[in-house]
Amino acid sequence: MGIDALRTAVRGTVLLPGEDDFEQAARPWNTAVRQPVAAVVTAADADDIARVVRHAQRTGRTVVTQPTGHGATGDIAGAILLRTGLLDEISVDPDRRTARVGSGAQWGRVQAAAAAHGLTGLAGSNPVVGVTGYTLGGGFGWFSRAHGWAANAVTALEIVDAAGERQRISADTDPELFWALRGGGGDFGIVTALEFDLFELPQLYGGRVSWPADRTAEAFETFTALTTGAPAELSVWLQRYQLPGAAPTVAIDFAFLGDPAEGRALTSSLDTIAGALTDTRGAMTPDRIGAITAEPTDPTPSLSRGELLTDLGDAVVKTIIEAPVAPLLNIQIRGLGGALAATGPGGDGARGPVTEPYALYLLGLGLPHLADDVRAGFAAIVDGLGTHITGAKPYTFLAPGESASTAFDPATLTRLREIKRARDPHGVLRANFPVLE
Ligand SMILES: Cc1cc2nc3c(=O)[nH]c(=O)nc-3n(C[C@H](O)[C@H](O)[C@H](O)COP(=O)(O)OP(=O)(O)OC[C@H]3O[C@@H](n4cnc5c(N)ncnc54)[C@H](O)[C@@H]3O)c2cc1C
Repeated sequence: MGIDALRTAVRGTVLLPGEDDFEQAARPWNTAVRQPVAAVVTAADADDIARVVRHAQRTGRTVVTQPTGHGATGDIAGAILLRTGLLDEISVDPDRRTARVGSGAQWGRVQAAAAAHGLTGLAGSNPVVGVTGYTLGGGFGWFSRAHGWAANAVTALEIVDAAGERQRISADTDPELFWALRGGGGDFGIVTALEFDLFELPQLYGGRVSWPADRTAEAFETFTALTTGAPAELSVWLQRYQLPGAAPTVAIDFAFLGDPAEGRALTSSLDTIAGALTDTRGAMTPDRIGAITAEPTDPTPSLSRGELLTDLGDAVVKTIIEAPVAPLLNIQIRGLGGALAATGPGGDGARGPVTEPYALYLLGLGLPHLADDVRAGFAAIVDGLGTHITGAKPYTFLAPGESASTAFDPATLTRLREIKRARDPHGVLRANFPVLE
């Protein structure tokens, strides 16, 4: 059976190489990644997804699911690329404080629906990141020190399994698969909808204060003090960035899940650094959380590298301060801890606690004439940090060329691999970072 048989099998759209719009449909959000796939299917609904999986099973192909392509790796030649963006329904139950969202939904719309009831989901920094890929990989952001990993807030998932059957998975129906889906990535089933807990958030205060680069040492001192002993409701991130043609800048970003006056007082040390260039501090609603870092929401060619830091002592600070930002765009440090380092209520999924106190995220433009220099910039910083980097990585911060094996401890990886072999013995489903590679 040829790949073109997909057209009669599904109700959604099928695009094959050489056809108008194919290149555009196959292109991920990270435009530096090429995806030489055999077909791009935009599913009309969950039954369509089951039909795609059964077609792949019969024809020996692999299905790669990507609502947005934020986590694309490019390593998917010959696969069927499944777009789930049309499965974007969102319903919020304010009494039970839960949400049910289709697997194509993006965080910005979910947060808007939750905010209307004084609630929040555990979104990350960017409103156009997909709920599903983020959550299956663990998912952490401004709300996580208080409420933990997004994966651990999931209460049920509707999936199409590797045999093309629709199933509802919860702790009661299939504890082993439920565990794997909560943080183990997209290798274990194609999610068609997720249900997760929302959290009360009547007040939120946050923003960014930025300074010229000559304030970097002071900003680091303030950042270190703020993140040491902060209440779980306060998350603080530091950024060094340099946009093309602009001067290097340092910024402290934060979110406080509570009363604005209390948040202002907790972060008053930001006022002691003179010469602020911008100051966006203010009360906000959870659907405006993306405004803090104002990351790009349009497709971008990018290269990234994520790491976990053992500490923010003098040696680490010196290495990071002395590295020029360019040719990178951004050096970000996120304060972790709080509920991210603890076992979630009701037990964890595959994500488990992360005890490193900080995450480092390096970002550069993935343009051909810059890529080698950007990678060398990543390597210089990482090598300089030596043993202050543990080698473990949050799954959602993995970059093309990296392996899922760095995101899990050995016992978790073994358990995930056993589940993958049992549930998808013919390798019909492929995550962006497969657990078997
Ligand atoms: C600008 C930007 C900001 C980010 N900020 C954060 C952040 O604050 N915190 C954080 O933790 N991460 C963050 N990330 C990383 C992000 O969470 C991952 O890239 C994630 O994989 C994106 O999910 P997606 O669905 O949007 O991407 P896609 O590339 O479309 O999907 C990624 C992978 O998720 C899996 N997947 C997606 N949908 C399904 C499905 N229906 N069924 C089964 N598997 C599926 C697949 O393995 C797929 O390859 C950010 C990324 C970017 C580009």
